[in-house]
Amino acid sequence: MDCEDNDIIERLQKELENRKNDLQTWTDSLEELSEIEDAFEPDERNKLDGKTILDIGTDCVKPLFVALKFNPKKIVGINEEFPYSYTSEIEQKSKLFAGTKIRFYNCSLFDKETLNRILKKEEIRKFNFVLVSKTLHHLRTGKCVEKHKCRDDEKCCKYGFETQDIFKDLLQLGDRVIIYEFFDPNDPDNDKIRGRGGYFIKEEWGRIFDYFRKKNYNVKFIRPEGFLLDKEKPNKVDSTLRKVDTICFYVEK
Ligand SMILES: [Zn+2]
Repeated sequence: MDCEDNDIIERLQKELENRKNDLQTWTDSLEELSEIEDAFEPDERNKLDGKTILDIGTDCVKPLFVALKFNPKKIVGINEEFPYSYTSEIEQKSKLFAGTKIRFYNCSLFDKETLNRILKKEEIRKFNFVLVSKTLHHLRTGKCVEKHKCRDDEKCCKYGFETQDIFKDLLQLGDRVIIYEFFDPNDPDNDKIRGRGGYFIKEEWGRIFDYFRKKNYNVKFIRPEGFLLDKEKPNKVDSTLRKVDTICFYVEK
């Protein structure tokens, strides 16, 4: 085989890998949504008529499923990159059979200027829902919080998380912020890209919920079981966090 053949094989292997990942996103998305959907608390017809949703770090598939099942008015998905082969197909072809307008934008939560431009263009002042699914731990700061000398590859680094800043932004964007996180303690943390990413540890969740208490926010757990923070079952959060591998809750002011 000459070099050219090798190049072709390598390209095809990469293409195959991408397609495999794309397919996995569709099934993962279905599973995620089954854990999340109760947080939308749709009306008695099981619809979200007239509602708007911002999906931060979107996989583009969940908006389609949500549109088909709940028929909200509009779903805007933002992501820093769209590695999927089907993003524009969903945006365009969903028009054929879903009443919901689905729009995707290349934008980070931290890019206020672009975000404001999107809101203006979509004529939305504030969304009814902000969905943050498997994305919250990617909203870490750029500063390592470990007490060590950081290696160049940042392999052992962990970036901090500014609860106040992040939730101030999220609650400014939407009336109800829905958080979903999943982690497997036996799995290597594949999501960790340099110091960024990295699952939340129990203590970090503890700090996040302490902040909600301080602000007197309305917090409802959806998974692993439904309860209101500190209202129905005091001290329930601690025992929940100890055994949790899937967590879904919403926050409102
Ligand atoms: Zn470090």
